[in-house]
Amino acid sequence: MTPKITRFLAENTPATPCLIVDLDIIKEKYTALQNALPSARVHYAVKANPAHAILKQLHALGSYFDIASPGEMHLCLKAGIPAEKLSFGHTVKTAASIQEAHQHGVTLFAFDSLEELEKLAKHAPGCRVFCRLTVLNTGAQWPLSRKFGTSVEHAYTLLKHAQQLKLHPTGLSFHVGSQQTSTDAYRDAISQAAQLYFRLQKDGITLDFFNMGGGFPSHYTNPVPPITAFSESISRAMKEHFPQGNAPHILLEPGRYMVGDAGVVHSEITLASRRGGKATDPRWIYLDIGRFGGLAETEGEAIRYAFQTAYDNTTQSRSPCIIAGPTCDSMDVLYEKNPVALPDELTTGDKITILTTGAYVSTYCSTGFNGFAPLAEYYI
Ligand SMILES: *Cc1c(COP(=O)(O)O)cnc(C)c1O
Repeated sequence: MTPKITRFLAENTPATPCLIVDLDIIKEKYTALQNALPSARVHYAVKANPAHAILKQLHALGSYFDIASPGEMHLCLKAGIPAEKLSFGHTVKTAASIQEAHQHGVTLFAFDSLEELEKLAKHAPGCRVFCRLTVLNTGAQWPLSRKFGTSVEHAYTLLKHAQQLKLHPTGLSFHVGSQQTSTDAYRDAISQAAQLYFRLQKDGITLDFFNMGGGFPSHYTNPVPPITAFSESISRAMKEHFPQGNAPHILLEPGRYMVGDAGVVHSEITLASRRGGKATDPRWIYLDIGRFGGLAETEGEAIRYAFQTAYDNTTQSRSPCIIAGPTCDSMDVLYEKNPVALPDELTTGDKITILTTGAYVSTYCSTGFNGFAPLAEYYI
């Protein structure tokens, strides 16, 4: 938790649950990434957190943006971001959304199938297209591999076909999986993309960029490599494949990395109990936020948030606790297979802070399941 957030909580004592995001951290992340890979163009993945304050700040810093729907496009336009700085990175779009983006001046679109390419030719004639490759997501704690992308072989056919459809084949993209903790993932994906790049070049198609997606990790409970470890792996791989320095541009679409560490959820314990009444019964901690209030990435206990309490520095003993959300749904349990060791002093009514919740929380929130209001948000 940053000093700015601590001060905000002390001065404002906001009702729980709420998300507080320190915009200074986002600025630091953006700057660190640009310093690590100065030649790369950053397209912030809007879906990670589309808050107006974040979009405006990243725009002021010079960022581009990756959108997945007209809804995200309008959020960007409202933040003063011109359509030329948007890429439509979703490979599965309705005809109407392609048309709408095209009409508003978006010119760069992703695809991974013949059918989508034909849709683009019809509803965004003459646009620039990039093809998403399927790559391994080994090392990712939140994989994205099965649903999107095509093979190198098919991408070759499709990018050639794009020309016949009077579209501009402009790049390749891949996503190594979100919360990627292995720096090698990028190296392997770049190697696939480079082979295809040279094959297309022989046929007279010179691609402008490799879009390396997102994946850079936030710091949850376990340490993760610094951004410089990822940038070094990427730079090394690009140099290896393009020793002459004639490499395509690098585009990046970080989401989680950019905003995850900047946010905390301030929450209250609704009930702390060993329900069976015996000292040997498991200790259940029910929070006023859960799977449906924004913590959807606890699905399968994939993303492991860290918790902060008032007793952390003074406690003499901790016990494993099962952490559950507030709704009547029994799926609304955050950590049970791997319980969380929390201070024994914690009791009903205490506040608890959930760290690293700036990404994929505010919008992963139900609109009112069980009558619980959507998460309140503060950007400071
Ligand atoms: C979700 C997504 C991202 C962002 O991924 P992170 O792992 O949050 O960095 C980037 N590009 C595309 C196409 C995505 O779907």
